[in-house]
Amino acid sequence: MINRKPIRTALWTATLLALTLAAGAAAQTATVELDAREVARHVLHAHMVLPAQPGPLTLLYPKWIPGEHGPTGPLNGVVNLRFRSQGRELAWRRDPLEMFAFKLEVPAGASAVEADLDYLPPVDSGVFSSGPSVTQALAILSWNNVALYPQGRPTDELTYQASLRLPAGWTFATALPVADGGGETVRFGPVSFTTLVDSPILAGSHLVKVPLATGQGPAHEIDIAGDSAAAVELPAGFAEAYARLPEEAAALFGARHYRHYQWLLSLSDHVEHFGLEHHESSDNRVLERQLHDDGLRRGLASLLSHEYVHSWNGKYRRPAGLATPDYQQPMIGELLWIYEGMTQYLGFLLAARSGLWTPEYYRERLALLAARLDHTTGRAWRPLADTAVGAQVLFGSPPQGRAARRGTDFYDESVLIWLEADAIIRRQTQGRLSLDDFCRRFHGGQSGPPAVRPYTLDEVVNTLNDVSPFDWRGFFRDRVETITPRAPLGGVEANGWRLVYTETPNQGNTDGEAQNERHDWSFSLGLATDKDNVIVDVIPGLPAAQAGLSPGMKMLSVNGRKWTPENVQAALRAAKKGAEPIELSAEDGESVLTLHADYHGGERYPHLERVPDRPDLLTEVIKPLAARR
Ligand SMILES: [Zn+2]
Repeated sequence: MINRKPIRTALWTATLLALTLAAGAAAQTATVELDAREVARHVLHAHMVLPAQPGPLTLLYPKWIPGEHGPTGPLNGVVNLRFRSQGRELAWRRDPLEMFAFKLEVPAGASAVEADLDYLPPVDSGVFSSGPSVTQALAILSWNNVALYPQGRPTDELTYQASLRLPAGWTFATALPVADGGGETVRFGPVSFTTLVDSPILAGSHLVKVPLATGQGPAHEIDIAGDSAAAVELPAGFAEAYARLPEEAAALFGARHYRHYQWLLSLSDHVEHFGLEHHESSDNRVLERQLHDDGLRRGLASLLSHEYVHSWNGKYRRPAGLATPDYQQPMIGELLWIYEGMTQYLGFLLAARSGLWTPEYYRERLALLAARLDHTTGRAWRPLADTAVGAQVLFGSPPQGRAARRGTDFYDESVLIWLEADAIIRRQTQGRLSLDDFCRRFHGGQSGPPAVRPYTLDEVVNTLNDVSPFDWRGFFRDRVETITPRAPLGGVEANGWRLVYTETPNQGNTDGEAQNERHDWSFSLGLATDKDNVIVDVIPGLPAAQAGLSPGMKMLSVNGRKWTPENVQAALRAAKKGAEPIELSAEDGESVLTLHADYHGGERYPHLERVPDRPDLLTEVIKPLAARR
């Protein structure tokens, strides 16, 4: 139903109906004019002309946003909503059960409704693309924030022609086809409403386009907007390094399902930080200094790699429950451990194969996520599958209590699960085949423009069995649907490595501390604090929790000295040599608490260590593939 390319031709009635609709498509094109000239005042103006027939009409504001896996449409940002037809204002009322639906009556003789709305981008609320998206120097404009569509037809069948006005001196980048970009108003070519929503605009006063030299085939480009001119200055070798990413992806999947691909990258400390996948682009938002710090650049590599993998895994191949016909039908997240989890696995893999990560750094990140999952006590009550089904509420859940609750673990835990699946295929085929072969069969096929091929778990299991017969259904049941108090480390161990803890900081943890402005002693004292020394979370059962600390308390001191990373480190080292407990003081509301942690294990950070008598297959897994094919 969501397929943009019809696959079955036997359904003649459906085909004839589609042809009839296509014939009338030109007359049925909706227009949306987005005036972003006042974006620096945090207001966007949209004017739409929507084809309509006389009688009742329901117009919808997109609610369930693809890739956000939840009802995140920023409805509260909409103001000054007005409808007109034949020169007269139309009354409207909201559906009392569906807040995102507006009902009106189209007058006799009318063929269209004009709709106007202003959108107020949030300042400090909202998640993902409904979070902060504009600054004085840049904006990420998502069409679903400013456009309505009529109820009753799949959004693939609605044709929209968009136009855009920007502040003076701003330029833009988008995957949308540009019909006329010459004047003050940019006019885009007609596309389906699905494609429009799938094609955000990155605009700004400091915007550079970085084409990647990827040879023949589709063009690849990283488009970068920043809050300053310095932010968008490229570090040496940037374009050359990233050019290897599309090459490795092509070697892995064997086909591409886009006509061109653009990473839209915004560098600002004042936008929501996340990545959102689209079919021919991705919306990637990071810190202003992200290009100019080694650790932050490593974080960027996995973000850009992850969102790019989604063009195959998530956009082209999509779980049936997430391949909805419009933006109002609720999404079913039960297979997010494939949609997001395999993408996380392949994102790490391609970052390493492309050389954006060293093999050592890949192992550090693997060790860190394994250790975190192993310290997530919520896994004793909640199976991984439930984090996927519950994603629509877990994405907005607070970091406080995360260890006990579990977060969106279907990302990181699936890295371990797919690594183990890869190890099983390699073992069973004596190294001839691997999960790469699954990817070629499942995500490859014929190269071409965007299309959606929904799947069920059955198809995943069957394709794995085609690659290498195994009890895959039982394998997933045991790891995904069953409660597993310990993290699944079988894949790490099968590849000749094991998880250990030493006093040497984990590089991934250190990078994460800088990115998130946190200090993390999760594997020793069992707590993490933010930049204001407020406890983000404690690990139930570890010394901080046993001493009586809980999330939200503000740490004041350690062993009588101020709570600083250096003083915590000194206290951990002193306690390791002695028998005295560590003295802690913390503030909780009006109270000041003095507590004691009877902990003598010193600093503990996770790493992977070779298992001496087993071959190192992990290094084989992350070797570049493009050169080998
Ligand atoms: Zn993702």
